[in-house]
Amino acid sequence: MTYGIVIRGTAVLPEGPLQNAWIAVKDGKIAAIGAGETPDATEIVDAGTDLIIPGVIDGQTHACSYGGLPGLGSTTRSAVAGGITTIVDMPYDNPDPLNSVARLDAKIAAIREHAHANVALYATVMPDQSVDEVGGLIARGVVAFKISTFESSPTRFPRISSSQTLEIFRALADTAIPLGVHNEDQEIVRANITAAKAAGRNGIEAHSESRPPAAELAATAQFLELGAAAGAHAHIVHLTTTRGFDLVENYLADGFRATGELCVHYLWFDPEVDGPKLGAKMKVNPPIRPGQIGLLWDDVASGRVAFVSSDHSSWPIDNKLTASIFDAGAGVPGLETLLPAFFTGAEARGYDAVALTVEQLCERPAKFFGLWPQKGALIVGADADIAVLKAEPHNWDSSKAHDELRWSPFDGREFKVRVARTYVGGKLAWDGTDVVNVPGDGQYVGRGTSAWF
Ligand SMILES: [Zn+2]
Repeated sequence: MTYGIVIRGTAVLPEGPLQNAWIAVKDGKIAAIGAGETPDATEIVDAGTDLIIPGVIDGQTHACSYGGLPGLGSTTRSAVAGGITTIVDMPYDNPDPLNSVARLDAKIAAIREHAHANVALYATVMPDQSVDEVGGLIARGVVAFKISTFESSPTRFPRISSSQTLEIFRALADTAIPLGVHNEDQEIVRANITAAKAAGRNGIEAHSESRPPAAELAATAQFLELGAAAGAHAHIVHLTTTRGFDLVENYLADGFRATGELCVHYLWFDPEVDGPKLGAKMKVNPPIRPGQIGLLWDDVASGRVAFVSSDHSSWPIDNKLTASIFDAGAGVPGLETLLPAFFTGAEARGYDAVALTVEQLCERPAKFFGLWPQKGALIVGADADIAVLKAEPHNWDSSKAHDELRWSPFDGREFKVRVARTYVGGKLAWDGTDVVNVPGDGQYVGRGTSAWF
């Protein structure tokens, strides 16, 4: 047997790291795994003592919220440079969200035209839209649905009422498909923003205070209860406090399908420490809270967090440097920082960084979105989506990023690892310096059979 590519290094397998290992790739799949003598192959890549891990699955990306569907190009270039082989893209595309089979087909066509990484898709339902499209979207492979309790944009990112939320939950109740939510109470936030503006306050602290934990947790609790009432899977796409994970755990303990997700910036930044320097560069919704980093790492380590994602947002810096914090876009770029930041943070807190990274960034999102075991693990028969990690401390410099945005709250922060290589479907996509695969090498990935519950 002669394989296409054999990659040598320390392979992080589901049962643990295997030193002096090799991963053999043929026809886009992992064909064999072993240790010791290298089998015959057209190309042998010796990664030395570098770690070979499954490609990361970023469970929350916003590729098209600014530049529309062509935004898949720069977003997925950035993904492969960050060791991410599959993004799960959110539905709030500019100008129109993904809420119909016709728009799904258009987005799949855009993936074929632009994508360097694989792309799985969320869909949504617009206000007053019936649930008639839900079945067709599921049949064509969307991995989840998402709605918002807060109106960020009336046309692109609208608020969905409680009664409609219940209707969507009922439409999903007999499936494994989660309904995710952006969880903030509209009345509380709007009243607070009005009051802050009237008081002439416009800094990052005013942003945090205008969206207090009560707004986030009230919306979270209501959504969890509606999901429970319908018997569907309710998923909170970002919780910012350990109290949020308590709420999810209560519903789980009562036998309901409930999960909560964390984004890596909530594990790194504290507004009281970093706010004065970063300002709008750390504006995300719901806001990053003071004093939560250690508690949230505990939640990750204890398994209370479904998985950790980037919540990458494709805002140019001009959209952040506004006179008032309330006019700045919410969200940060994050595809090239997710993996090194998570790994570095886990190691700094004394966790087994290798095991925790593969669990939270690869295995769990694969299982959650129905992609397991084709993705998320180095096992024979899986797709050859692979990242190679080198232990090489360096300070993050977003001017070298591939997202065409070139700003980051992580600028100047030290990361302990660097992504040396990324393979998508057995083909080299990132060689440590450049993106080397071509648009369209990334595939549309439909939901498979794995289920979280
Ligand atoms: Zn998001």
